[in-house]
Amino acid sequence: MDQRTRLYYSGVLVEPREGATPPPLELWEGKKNGLVVVECPQSIPCNPCHTSCPTGAIVPFKDINDVPKVDWSLCTGCGICVAACPGLACFVVDLATGDESRARLKLPFEFLPKPTKGEEVTLLNRVGEDVGRGTVVRTTEPLRDRTTVVHVDIPRNLANDVRAIRLNRRG
Ligand code: SF4
Ligand code: SF4
Repeated sequence: MDQRTRLYYSGVLVEPREGATPPPLELWEGKKNGLVVVECPQSIPCNPCHTSCPTGAIVPFKDINDVPKVDWSLCTGCGICVAACPGLACFVVDLATGDESRARLKLPFEFLPKPTKGEEVTLLNRVGEDVGRGTVVRTTEPLRDRTTVVHVDIPRNLANDVRAIRLNRRG
């Protein structure tokens, strides 16, 4: 099995596919609070992204094994699905931050200690490589469970690459 196939079956998105395709740029760039990006490449019996979404932006599944499909016109960027997805496959990317060089990424974080506002963090790509630095803007816990949704200010040119963070704390 080659590296690309191995990554795919590990749940890493290695190619565009329906539902995992980024939002249309003309809608995305003007959408304050961001739009969901769902990176769930496999057919698995799972649907909390759909059941947790308060607006119906993750369209109803015909079958529990369906891969999610998104109606971005309904997405408010609330981040609830980011916390609800057990596969850590939902993200919100905000390109309408008012600064064309920056983006805001909302991603799931399940470790302790939790990031704190103002903290500089290492930005990691889909395969865990260090691709830069970002700053935590806020953290939320929409489902009041152990999944924190971290809002991170990142360079805009990394918006389609960064999918995790690592804290830089020592000790
Ligand atoms: S960010 Fe909010 S509105 Fe958008 S798909 Fe997720 S839960 Fe639905
Ligand atoms: S909740 Fe997450 S893992 Fe489950 S189907 Fe939705 S995006 Fe995929």
